[in-house]
Amino acid sequence: MANTPMMEQYLRIKNDYQDAFLFFRLGDFYELFFEDAKRAAKELEITLTARGKGEDKIPMCGVPHHSSKQYIRQLIEKGFKVAICEQTEDPAQAKGVVRREVVQVITPGTVMDTGAFDDKENNFLIALSESSDNRETALAALDTTTGEFRLTKLDSNDALISELAVYQCREVVIDDSIDEDALNALIEPMGMTVSKVTITPGSSPPHAVSKVEDYELLRVADVLFHYVGHTAGGALEHVQMADVYIRQAYMHMDAHSKRNLELTGTLRDRRKQGSLLGVIDETSTAMGGRLLKQWINKPLLNIDQISSRQRIVRSLMDYFFERQSLKTALQGVYDLERLSGRVAFGNVNGRDFIQLKHSLEKVPQILDLIRDIAGDDSMPLIEGAETCDELRELLEVSIQENCPVSITEGDLLKDGYDEQLDLYREAMSNGKSWIAELERQERAHTGIKSLKVGFNKVFGYYIEVTKANIAALPEGRYERKQTLSNAERYITEELKEKEQLILEAEEKSVKLEHELFLEIRDRVKAYIRPLQKLAKTISAVDVLVSFAEVSEQNGYVQPTLKANGPVKVIHGRHPVVETMIDHGDYVANDLTMDEDKDILLITGPNMAGKSTYMRQLAHLSILAQIGCFVPADEAELPVFDQIFTRIGAADDLAQGQSTFMVEMLETRQALKHATRQSLILLDEIGRGTSTYDGMSLAQAVIEYVHDTVQAKTLFSTHYHELTQLADNLERCHNVHVAAREEDGEVVFLHKVIDGPADRSYGIYVAQLAELPREVIERAKELLADFEAQAQEVSTSSAVPSARDEQIPLFDASVMESERTGKEKEVLAAIQNLNLLHLTPIQAIQILDDLKQKLT
Ligand code: ADP
Repeated sequence: MANTPMMEQYLRIKNDYQDAFLFFRLGDFYELFFEDAKRAAKELEITLTARGKGEDKIPMCGVPHHSSKQYIRQLIEKGFKVAICEQTEDPAQAKGVVRREVVQVITPGTVMDTGAFDDKENNFLIALSESSDNRETALAALDTTTGEFRLTKLDSNDALISELAVYQCREVVIDDSIDEDALNALIEPMGMTVSKVTITPGSSPPHAVSKVEDYELLRVADVLFHYVGHTAGGALEHVQMADVYIRQAYMHMDAHSKRNLELTGTLRDRRKQGSLLGVIDETSTAMGGRLLKQWINKPLLNIDQISSRQRIVRSLMDYFFERQSLKTALQGVYDLERLSGRVAFGNVNGRDFIQLKHSLEKVPQILDLIRDIAGDDSMPLIEGAETCDELRELLEVSIQENCPVSITEGDLLKDGYDEQLDLYREAMSNGKSWIAELERQERAHTGIKSLKVGFNKVFGYYIEVTKANIAALPEGRYERKQTLSNAERYITEELKEKEQLILEAEEKSVKLEHELFLEIRDRVKAYIRPLQKLAKTISAVDVLVSFAEVSEQNGYVQPTLKANGPVKVIHGRHPVVETMIDHGDYVANDLTMDEDKDILLITGPNMAGKSTYMRQLAHLSILAQIGCFVPADEAELPVFDQIFTRIGAADDLAQGQSTFMVEMLETRQALKHATRQSLILLDEIGRGTSTYDGMSLAQAVIEYVHDTVQAKTLFSTHYHELTQLADNLERCHNVHVAAREEDGEVVFLHKVIDGPADRSYGIYVAQLAELPREVIERAKELLADFEAQAQEVSTSSAVPSARDEQIPLFDASVMESERTGKEKEVLAAIQNLNLLHLTPIQAIQILDDLKQKLT
């Protein structure tokens, strides 16, 4: 196929940007060709056309330049990259094909257009690199919009996955130390874009890594900045000093547990409303919102740090009126972090500066108030925070309050800021008043009252006279310029001269204003660091004020934390569930656990409130460890190093895993990684398989936790047979959620009390759900049968202890030859069952069939 010179240019450029959609500028459009065109047409739902004819036809599609942003955003949100290729010379001057170059590559992790995100969300780009002994993975994280920059090392794949989940990043950059296929397999369900680079040593901005000595961390930083340098165009002034952290310094929760606990989004649709964050986010600034989310994802382990946050919250609660003033002041603060990013990137406008000025006006008040309220406790917060007075003054004298969005069309700067600009403006305004005067003079001179002087962009200034009055005009003085249907427009020599002066002054003034604005922008660059420090202080104050607000509004209490101490919660409530039901309807519950009682077996009917009770403790602990107060009358808590959960029906179909497999994977995480300082929540373990299978697993898990892991554990189960375990395992205790039967119906009391539930009320819940009456009746019959049979089978204990197997069918002491044909048949049927694909109901039916066979 014979290519035109332009297509050759296209192919040459495309060759360097294989993994991105190449937006190729052609006049007022960005065009895409070949495969790019086919895919973009599908993703963006735009028409696929063709360039050329017959055999030389090339698939093509395009988007108008002026509305390209929305299309680019769509592609980025879907995880793609876009390379913007502009015409870099004036087409009128070009000899041959216009020169074109890629001026920017936009990727999910480096996009600067914050309109693409929620203001309260970070957008982290992650880089990974493997240590030379392959034992650790170094991780670098950068939010290009705010400049936040973190470094850490991870010692396992599990740690890597959960850290990636913390950052909720959309793009990962790796160097050749990482096996791309293996990584892709690991992170595929998380929907991230992976890019591989060959590292250029020394890519990192020196100020950001000046205190980093570790070779592996420096290397991963280079991977990150090598990539950022090639995409974000190297705007790195706003990158903050690396925060090198150790993962173990924070409470750990794996990705599953975080999702299960609905910390920052609901399980069903990941919405903030309905999550823990949704309840406690009363922050006033976008920066505060982002910091709160980071805190929830990383609760503290250090009691001193926690107490210091708690003391500030306490003071903020005590000083109600001052807190209100603080909140009002915070509401006037703009996103200083993202602004710093835009200053570095060079895309701020006058309005940003006005908002910055107003924010800086609030700063002294904010710092004074928090100092007054929290005294010495505020010191670590506000240390090093500067009020940036000179910057505020600069913006005050320079930028006009009602300036336009554009920085190239004037009206940006105040009078008196620059002498030359004032001169131009004077010329313009003198000229304009001269013109106004001209109208008066001409009217007097001609006696035409309707004569007017006007201006339009095409013809410039003119004198307009209606056709009826033309006769009254003196000869030779006016030169005709334009004829309208009922008027004529004229110009005079004098008017022409003035027009020249005015337009020249206007043009020069606009140009000068632009230059002066860029100069101001450069001066603001020098304040990036202090602004970022200020942003840190203000966002932390904002979060703590939010804690105080929420604690007061929702009646939270300050918890006492003791390392390795007991759990003593009096009248605890679930922070989210209590906001979802009518006020006062929430039934508060106590929860105590200590050295002699570290496993609670929770029984009770479905829908009684077992999972709520379990999650409640996790939420209380997380709130406590981020420094917030907790929903209870009294709370004494240990510092949990990790929380593991296996809760609810988090069926991860997207990951291609069955419910039961997910259940087992989550259980494995807990059994493998939990320590004595951890909290484990296991909800209905074994439910996803057949009854005996499930019950055996559940029992084995409890025994293992009791004997080996010894973590504080809440275990809910509908196998109320398991409650007898408490007799054998000394630190295992029974509690149950009370329900009452009234006129054949179950009334849930949501009250947790000591001791085992006397029965499971599954059939009643089925009745509530209005299953057909025949089903309910049959289930009751079956239940009666099963219970009678269990009585027969039981000798000393109703629970088949894994240590003391009691089901005769499986009894190894029964000789094969002693079994009847029926028994053999039943055994074979059981052996052939695929337990992974059985629901409890199916299991019961099969059990019933088997039973029939044996009778
Ligand atoms: P289970 O795990 O026992 O099946 P859940 O914990 O899912 O039950 O609770 C079922 C519903 O009962 C919850 O959605 C909530 O509306 C209500 N509920 C749970 N605990 C309480 C409580 N302590 N007070 C009031 N309502 C509650």
